[in-house]
Amino acid sequence: MQRMETNQLNLRLATSGFRFTAQRQHVYDVLLQTQDHPTAEEVFMRAKQNMPDISIATVYNCLDALVKCGLVRQVNLDRGAARYCPNMKDHFHFCCDECGKVFDIDTKDLDGVSQISLPGGFKLTQREISLRGLCPECASRL
Ligand SMILES: [Zn+2]
Ligand SMILES: [Zn+2]
Repeated sequence: MQRMETNQLNLRLATSGFRFTAQRQHVYDVLLQTQDHPTAEEVFMRAKQNMPDISIATVYNCLDALVKCGLVRQVNLDRGAARYCPNMKDHFHFCCDECGKVFDIDTKDLDGVSQISLPGGFKLTQREISLRGLCPECASRL
């Protein structure tokens, strides 16, 4: 588990102009615990279990801070609410049409995409490819 030490989280928040709060730590922990790309509402439901007085507004605020300081990325798949992913390594998302789960696919494991060449003049800063289909579990069941 890639749990970040409290002081590292603190530092990351501070360098981006955010204050460290127990709520931000908690929301970050929730994301690290289950890397299944929850929506803000799902994060809220989980965060409430150990911090009953946290509000949905606070959860949104925490997620926003974590995204802005580069600890979490917001994932927008074609349908549904934005999801949150604490994996900052270069990866793509695979969405299973059957169970709806979202999986991280390491770009190293994909042929042909490690070197994307763009037409002249374009400069790549970020890439996001969403893949769809069946996850191994669903594929073996159907
Ligand atoms: Zn991800
Ligand atoms: Zn599936």
